[in-house]
Amino acid sequence: MPSRVLIEGGWVFAGEGDGPFDVVEDGVVAVEGERIVYAGPREGLDPAWQPTRRIDARDKAVLPGLVNAHTHHAMSLLRGYADDVPLMPWLEQHIWPAEAHLTGDDVYWGTLLAIAESLLAGVTTFADMYFFMDRVAQAVLETGVRAHLSRGLIGVAPGADRALAEGKELVANFHGAGEGRIRCALAPHAPYTCPPPYVARVLEAAEALGCPIHTHLAETRAEIEQIRAQYGKSPIRHFADLGVFRHETLAAHCVHLDADDIAILAENRVAVAHNPISNCKLASGIAPVSELLAAGVTVGLASDGAASTNHLDLFEEMRLAANLQKVSRYDATALPAWQVLRLATVGGARALGFDRLGCLAPGYLADIVILDLRAPHLWPRHDLTSLVVYSAKAADVDTVLVHGRVLVDGGELLTIDIERVEREAQERAQRLARLGRGGR
Ligand SMILES: [Zn+2]
Repeated sequence: MPSRVLIEGGWVFAGEGDGPFDVVEDGVVAVEGERIVYAGPREGLDPAWQPTRRIDARDKAVLPGLVNAHTHHAMSLLRGYADDVPLMPWLEQHIWPAEAHLTGDDVYWGTLLAIAESLLAGVTTFADMYFFMDRVAQAVLETGVRAHLSRGLIGVAPGADRALAEGKELVANFHGAGEGRIRCALAPHAPYTCPPPYVARVLEAAEALGCPIHTHLAETRAEIEQIRAQYGKSPIRHFADLGVFRHETLAAHCVHLDADDIAILAENRVAVAHNPISNCKLASGIAPVSELLAAGVTVGLASDGAASTNHLDLFEEMRLAANLQKVSRYDATALPAWQVLRLATVGGARALGFDRLGCLAPGYLADIVILDLRAPHLWPRHDLTSLVVYSAKAADVDTVLVHGRVLVDGGELLTIDIERVEREAQERAQRLARLGRGGR
């Protein structure tokens, strides 16, 4: 018999779709196996439905699990390694030399560190593009989280052929693994690292495997200038003309867009992963999220890797995303609280192509976050959505379920030995820093 979990007594953020949440006071969420069977007022639950476990959610908010729509999880090992540097020198002089020494074990432990940080911050799903991705898949399967995984493919690097072979192998071995908790994609890194003949080979493989595409697009002004100089068009138009968007595509950043670019993204149902902190810290710019949403583009919220953002906290990303749209347009009504919370949940779930994920409603996958509201910064209780988006912190996360299974219980990680992970991360990060700076 599948497990039956009843979360009861909290402020339940119920309701499907893109609109404001139906926040129910003293609500309940009933979970059977990996799915939600009911979410709403207590009296609406069939009295004959008996749980095998009860979770007391009084003085707590019950939300859909947060979805981090673009990250490089193992880069957590390089957190704080090179800050306050522009994107290209940051990559070329700091990150790539250190990454050249990464081993599969490093990626495994770095990913576990990021999964631990993410779970404790209410993030239940992430989209990761990196390498040694079979080890990332191992970490996902062991910890019980949900993920969209892809091997980053750089066509101009010496190992381009081997990378593509590894990317295809990842899809063949792990797409649909863990009872569907893992989806896999092929990931041509960006237009400036993947020449058209290489992109064509990636697309041929995606066609054969029937898998989606994950990429970086229109991140910096320098990229726009370079692609215009090389191909006479914008990065979005360039990838559209190469046929990339004939495949389900997740595009990170999309900061520098004109009206034509936005129309192309909307027409081709390209999903955008918006990374507000990374875009600010690397001085990339402000993505036109309001225009994308108005055009009907699916947008998810993301942290990018912890080497550029320094943490994997979607509460911080939600606040900055909302504030950037408001201040850049001189419009306090832009990207309201409920909408930014939708981006961080169902928006991300759709962007990653997970069906029936990201809402608390019957039939949806039971990825659920319970926030403890018993803290001074969470009083008084007027509008619960405002409270969660503008006042709550990752540290308020109390309990987390993924696929119906409790992975964080009262702030404690149940599937990760966090002391071991922290020790491994510190030792491995020190070795990488030494080797990356030319040491032995
Ligand atoms: Zn990225």
